Amino acid sequence: MHDFDYLEPHSVGEASRMLADLGDDARVIAGGTALLLGMRQRMVAPTHLVSLAKLERLRGIDFDEKAGLRIGALVRHVDVARSSLVRKHVPVLASMAERVANPQVRNQGTLGGNLCYADPSTDPPSCLLALDATVVLGSARGERSLPIEQFLVDYFATALEPDELLLEIRVPPLAGDVQGVYSRFLRTAAEHRPLVNVAFVARREGSLCRDARIAVGASTPIASRMRRAEDFLEGRTVTPEVAAEAAAIVAQDIEPVSDLRGSADFRRDMVRAVARRTVTELFGLSIDEGVGA
Ligand SMILES: Cc1cc2nc3c(=O)[nH]c(=O)nc-3n(C[C@H](O)[C@H](O)[C@H](O)COP(=O)(O)OP(=O)(O)OC[C@H]3O[C@@H](n4cnc5c(N)ncnc54)[C@H](O)[C@@H]3O)c2cc1C
Repeated sequence: MHDFDYLEPHSVGEASRMLADLGDDARVIAGGTALLLGMRQRMVAPTHLVSLAKLERLRGIDFDEKAGLRIGALVRHVDVARSSLVRKHVPVLASMAERVANPQVRNQGTLGGNLCYADPSTDPPSCLLALDATVVLGSARGERSLPIEQFLVDYFATALEPDELLLEIRVPPLAGDVQGVYSRFLRTAAEHRPLVNVAFVARREGSLCRDARIAVGASTPIASRMRRAEDFLEGRTVTPEVAAEAAAIVAQDIEPVSDLRGSADFRRDMVRAVARRTVTELFGLSIDEGVGA
C-alpha cells in the first residue's frame, strides 16, 4: 500500500473543510474494512485519510419515544446487534446486524461506513428501507436529513456531497403491534455476503396485514422498496397462498444483477423464495422450502 497522511479532525466542520480542500486526494476512514481493502487492491489511492475517530457527534445509540432510535454513523455492526435499546425497540434491526459478515468485520465495520460505501451486497440498506429510516448528513455548511431511499442513489453511489459526512441514522419508533422479519440467502456457507435479502415490516391484526413495508437488497444494484407487493398485501388475510403471490410480485418487480456469484434468473428465484418465507414467518405460518438463512 502507498504512503498517506492520516488526519484526525476534532469536529464535523473541520473534517468537512479538509475534504473540501483536499478533494479527490482525500478519503474518509471509519472502521476501514472496505476502504483499506480498496487501497490494498489499488482501486483507490488517496494521499490523505480523514479519520472520524475523534468525532463524538457520530457516536452512540439513543432512543426517544417520539423520535425513535438515533444511531451514530460510527456505531459498529456488533454494537447495533448487542444494543439493548435496538433489541427492545427495533428487534429486526438487531437481528439483521448480528448476521452481517463475520465477527471480525462486525467488530470493526461501522453502520455509517456500510451505507456510505453503497456496496449492493450488504444487509443494512433493505432493513433500513423497510423501517423508513432517515439519515442525517453534515458538513461545514450545516446539516440536512434525507430518507434513506434518497440517500442510496445507485450502484456504489450515495447522495453525499464531497465535503459531507454521514452523521447518524434515525429509525422512527414502531407501534406496539408492528413486527419485522429480516431474511438473507447466502450462496455457500463459506460466503459471508448475502446474495439476496428481504426485510418485511407490517402491523398484524390477527391474520390481516396492515402498513406492509417490504424491501429487497443485495440482488439488485441498490436496495429498494417493493410498493406493488406492499399494496397487494394491504388489508389482506395472509395465507401461504397470499404470501406466495406477494413474493411473486416482488420477484417480478426487481431487476436483478447478473454476475459470477449468480445469474439474474437465479437471483430472481431466490428473491421469490426468501420473500415468501419472510412474509409467512411474520404471520406465523409454516413453510419449508429448504432456503438457508
Ligand atoms: C470480508 C467481508 C465481508 C463482508 N460481509 C458483509 C455482509 O455480509 N453484510 C454486509 O452488510 N456487509 C458486509 N461487508 C461490508 C462491511 O459491512 C463494510 O465493509 C463495513 O460496514 C464498512 O464500514 P467501515 O466503517 O469499515 O467503513 P470504511 O471502510 O472506513 O469506509 C467505507 C467507505 O465509506 C466512507 N465513509 C465511512 N464512514 C463515513 C461517514 N460517516 N461519512 C462519509 N463517508 C464515510 C469511506 O470514505 C469509504 O469510502 C463485508 C466486508 C468484508 C471485508
